[in-house]
Amino acid sequence: MVFRRTGLPVVVMTLALAGYLAGRLLHGEGFDAVVDGWLAAATGWTTAAVCWLALHRSAGVRIEYALATVAVTATVAGDTYYTLAQDESGVLPSPSLADLGYMLFYALMLLALIVVVGKRLHGAAWPVFLDSAVAACGAATVLAVVLEPVVGSSGEAGLSARTVIAVAYPLFDLMLIAVVAAIFAARGETDGHWAPLVVGLLIFAAADVVFALGEASGAYSVGSALDMAWAVGIALIAVWVDRASRAGQPRRRRRTAHQALLLPGAATAAALAVLLLGSEQHVPVYALVLASATLVLAAVPMAFRHRLLRRLARTDDLTGLLNRRAFHDDCVQRLAAAAGAAAAGAGAGKRSGALLLLDLDRFKEINDSLGHEAGDRLLVQVGERLSRSLRTGDLLARLGGDEFAVLLNGSSADEADAVARKIRDALAGGFPVAGIELRTSVSIGVALFPGHGADANSLLRKADLAMYRAKTARSGHQLYHQDDDRQGELRLRTIQELRTALVLDQLVLHYQPQIDLATNEIHGVEALVRWDHPARGLLMPADFLDLAEECGLMHDLTLVVLQKALDQAAQWSSRQAKLTVAVNISASSLVDVGLPRRISAMLHERQLPASALILEITEDFLMADRDRARGILTELRGNGIQIAVDDFGTGYSSLAYLRELPIDELKLDQSFVQPMGTDPRASALVASTIALAHSLGLRIVAEGVETRQTQDELKELGCNNAQGHYVSLPVSAAELDGWLVSRRQLEPAPQP
Ligand code: C2E
Ligand code: CA
Ligand code: CA
Repeated sequence: MVFRRTGLPVVVMTLALAGYLAGRLLHGEGFDAVVDGWLAAATGWTTAAVCWLALHRSAGVRIEYALATVAVTATVAGDTYYTLAQDESGVLPSPSLADLGYMLFYALMLLALIVVVGKRLHGAAWPVFLDSAVAACGAATVLAVVLEPVVGSSGEAGLSARTVIAVAYPLFDLMLIAVVAAIFAARGETDGHWAPLVVGLLIFAAADVVFALGEASGAYSVGSALDMAWAVGIALIAVWVDRASRAGQPRRRRRTAHQALLLPGAATAAALAVLLLGSEQHVPVYALVLASATLVLAAVPMAFRHRLLRRLARTDDLTGLLNRRAFHDDCVQRLAAAAGAAAAGAGAGKRSGALLLLDLDRFKEINDSLGHEAGDRLLVQVGERLSRSLRTGDLLARLGGDEFAVLLNGSSADEADAVARKIRDALAGGFPVAGIELRTSVSIGVALFPGHGADANSLLRKADLAMYRAKTARSGHQLYHQDDDRQGELRLRTIQELRTALVLDQLVLHYQPQIDLATNEIHGVEALVRWDHPARGLLMPADFLDLAEECGLMHDLTLVVLQKALDQAAQWSSRQAKLTVAVNISASSLVDVGLPRRISAMLHERQLPASALILEITEDFLMADRDRARGILTELRGNGIQIAVDDFGTGYSSLAYLRELPIDELKLDQSFVQPMGTDPRASALVASTIALAHSLGLRIVAEGVETRQTQDELKELGCNNAQGHYVSLPVSAAELDGWLVSRRQLEPAPQP
C-alpha cells in the first residue's frame, strides 16, 4: 500500500493537495487567484517540503534522493514562476524560466535513477541502460506517431522552440519510466515504494501528451484540468522520496530470463506496429527511423543478453561475488568431480578439499548503529579482501547477510586451517566506512571433504555447526567435530525449552546493588536474569539471551523480567526501602510502541512511583533509528521513568549526540573501569568521561568495580555510583534482603 506508515509531512501534503483539487473542481476552467495562485503554490511547496524533510530524516545522505528532492523543488519553482509571470489570459510565452525548472526536473531525476542503477546493480548496470534505451526508443516511436499533429502542423516555418519543448516533455517522462522499468526488469525490485514513482510519472506523461497535443492550438492556460494531473503526479513522486528514504534495504526477487525480456519485447512489438502502420497510411519518416532503431537496439545484443542474465542470476548484487545458489551449484559440480577422481584413483589433491563458512562478528550491531548503508559498504570491502586473500581457483560466495563461504579444492585440514588464519588476518585491519575506522572480526567453521561429507548440503551444515562453536567460543575458527552435532541439537532443544521456561516461570532475577559513592548508601539495584533450568541448573544470560533474541523471544522475556523486578520493587517499597530497580531492555523490545503504556500500567498496578524504575538501554538502540528512539524515550521519560545508557563507551555514539536525548544516566562499561588500577591512561579516560557526563547533567555509574582501590579512585573523581563485585555479586532477592537489613537499609521482613 502506498500510504502505509505515512508520516505527518505526507498527511499535510495530501490535505493541501485535496484542498487544491477540491477548489479546482469547484471553480471550473479558468484562472482563479486563490485556487490556482495560493492553493496551488501551497500544495507545490508542501510537496517540496516533504522531500526535504525526508532527506533530512534519513540517516546519511543518499545522493539519489537528494537529486530527486532538488528535481521536485525545481519543478515546483517552475510552476510558481509560471503562475507569477503569466499574462492575463493565463499564458506564458515559451520558452521561459519555468521551462528551465521543468528541464532541470528531468535532468536531475534521470541522474537520480542512474545513481540508483549504479548503486543497486554493481557492475551489471549496462544491460539496464541498454534496456532503458530500447524502451525509450520504442516509446519515442509511439510518441512520434501520437504527436504527429503537433509536429506536422508546424509546416514550412520549421519547428518552433515552443513545440520542441512541448514535445520533449512527454518524451522525457517516458525516458524516466523506461529507466525505472529497466531497473525492475533486471532485478525484480518488489518494494512497494517504487509504485508512487511509476504512477506519478505515468500521470505526468499522460498530462504532458495532452499538453503537447493542445500546444498546436495554443490551448493550455493555467487553471485547467492538466494542472491537477501535474499536482497529483509531483505529489506521488514526493511520496516516493518519502517512502524510499524510510525504507531499509530493498527486498529483491529475481525475475526469470523471459520476464527480463518483457521490456525489449514490448518495445519491439511497438516498433513493429508502427512499421506496419507505415505501410498502410502516412507515418512521419522520423517515426519510421525510430522504429528501425528500436529493432536494431533490441536485436543486436540479444545474444549476449542471455549470457548476461545468467551471470546476473549467479552474482550477489551487493558484492559482485557468487550468490548462494551459484555457490551451491558449483559446489555440487566440484564435489562430483572430486568423487569421480577418487573413483579413478587420483591423488589426494584432486579428491579432497574444504568448505569454509564465514560469519562476521557483531555485524548486526554495526548495521543497527550506523545504518544499512554503512553495513553494505563494510560487506563490499569484506568481499574485496576475501577475494584478494584466496587463490584464483577457490570458490568464494556471499551466501546472504554477513555470511560468506569458500570452497578450497585439494586442501588438507592443515591447509584449510592456514587459509582460515589468513582470512582472519585479512579482515582484522580496520575498514574505513562512514568516516570511521570500523573493526570487525569473523568466525569461521571448516568442514572437510570427503571426510565430513560428500555433498554440498551436509558440508554446509557441518561447517555451520563448527562456525557456531567458533562464534560462541570466540575462537576465530574451528574444524568440524562430531560433538558439534550434539551442540547443534542442544541449541535447538534449548530454544524449545526456553519457550516453555517463559510459560513455566523458570526465569529468576538476581539483583546487584549500586552504591552511592558520596554517602555509601544503596539507592538502587540492577535486575539480572537467570534461568533456573530443571536439568542444567542456573544458567547465566550468556547461555540463553542470544538464543532468545534469535528466535524472537526477547520481547516476552523482557516483559517477564519487568513484572518480576517490579513485584520485587513493590515488596521493598512496602518495607520502607527506597530502592530503584534497573531493568535491561533489549533493542528488540523498544520496537514495541505500546511499551511505555504497558510499563505505566505495571507500575500503577503495584502502586509504584515511576521513579522506582530505571530502564537500561544500549547505545545501538539510540543510534539505529534516532527518531523512533527519541520518540519512545521521550514518552517513557515523560511518564517519569529514568533512562540509563548501558555499556557506555563500547558503541559508536558520541556524547554530543547523547546530549540531545532524554537520558538520565550513563553506565560506564567495565572495560574502562577494570584497568584503572594498573593503567593511568584508563584512569584519565574515566576522569574525563565523568567530567563530560556531569557537564551534560548526567549521572554516571561505574560498572565492574572489583577492588577497593578502584572504588576509592572513582569516588575521588566524582563518580556518582559504583556497581561491581567489590560491593556485591548479583544475588537472589532473599540474599540481598539479608544484606540490606544488616546494613540497616531495609526493615526486617515481617514475621509470618
Ligand atoms: P550488563 O547489563 O552489563 O550487566 C552487568 C554484568 O556484569 C552482569 O553479568 C554482572 O554479573 C557482571 N558484573 C557485575 N559486576 C562485575 C564485576 O565487578 N566484575 C565482573 N567481571 N563482572 C561483573 P550477567 O548477569 O552475566 O549479565 C550479562 C549481561 O546479560 C548483562 O550485562 C546484560 O546485558 C544482559 N542481561 C542480564 N539480564 C538481562 C535482562 O533481564 N534482560 C536483558 N535484555 N539483558 C539482560
Ligand atoms: Ca545492564
Ligand atoms: Ca553494562
